[in-house]
Amino acid sequence: MKEEVILEVKDLVTTFDTEEGRIRAVEGVSFKVKRGQTLGIVGESGCGKSVTALSIMRLLPKPFGRIERGQILFQGQDILTLSAEEMHRIRGFGISMIFQEPMTALNPVHKVGDQLREVFQLHFPEMNDDEMWNRSVEILKKVGIPEPVQRMSEYPHQISGGMRQRVMIAMALAAKPDILIADEPTTALDVTIQAQILDLMKDLQQETHMAIIFITHDLGVIAEMCDEVLVMYAGIAAEFAEVIELFKTPKHPYTMGLLSSIPRLDSKRKTQLSIIKGMVPSLYELPEGCRFINRCAYAMAVCEKKSPELRAVGGDNHVASCYLY
Ligand code: SF4
Repeated sequence: MKEEVILEVKDLVTTFDTEEGRIRAVEGVSFKVKRGQTLGIVGESGCGKSVTALSIMRLLPKPFGRIERGQILFQGQDILTLSAEEMHRIRGFGISMIFQEPMTALNPVHKVGDQLREVFQLHFPEMNDDEMWNRSVEILKKVGIPEPVQRMSEYPHQISGGMRQRVMIAMALAAKPDILIADEPTTALDVTIQAQILDLMKDLQQETHMAIIFITHDLGVIAEMCDEVLVMYAGIAAEFAEVIELFKTPKHPYTMGLLSSIPRLDSKRKTQLSIIKGMVPSLYELPEGCRFINRCAYAMAVCEKKSPELRAVGGDNHVASCYLY
């Protein structure tokens, strides 16, 4: 069965104006997200994962960040052409986002119940107070929060980090979005809570058939959660493949390096991706050719001249930007 493409990002270029000049944080990235499926975006810090997510949400910090080129088609419509008001409706109903730090989304001075009610008020103005209360309790229960009625009258600082994460997920899901963007949502949590939150997201996805874009530096999480994977490096797409294919036959030397850093069963889960020697190049001083050249064991003369384009390297939709292929 052919899955419905619900979001298509085409040739996205996102820039930031800084004191040292303009940097291109995302450079010509394209991908598709299918209904009911999870796309993982993986890479080290500063590779452009979160900037890609914020570009989709149109939440880039103003006035420094801006989308310089490209299209973001949500259900076929380019959301870059929408008014601020139209975009406000898409955030929530269409696309919701959860963050690593729940306090980014939660207001410390409002009770959990009031914050949930606000989401319902915004997206379902026809609901009366009782309905909003009942739906809030129901959704807290659904995300596995014990004693939800009591939690409704508590402030975010009165509940644990894992609970806050669940409240944020509840708020993100309250408006029944078609797409949930999860930016490192479990990185700050301990392994047991992380596993519970990931299971919860999978269950909710099965129930609602929403698409998920899962942003992480943890390939263990990618293996567990995703159907397809986009590997980003220094603002560009290095490789894209279905998850099994990527793990079995990685093509880009960067992906190979990431995979060699996957923690083994006998090591700690949150091993950092520090095995690849060298550093991601500064976006102020990008090399002329391949951005991975200073860390690549396979570099050739051609790699210095021009940045490689994405090309087919294997099974269905498997592409990589590397001159080895
Ligand atoms: Fe390495 Fe060259 Fe491929 Fe870049 S293009 S990853 S430098 S082999």
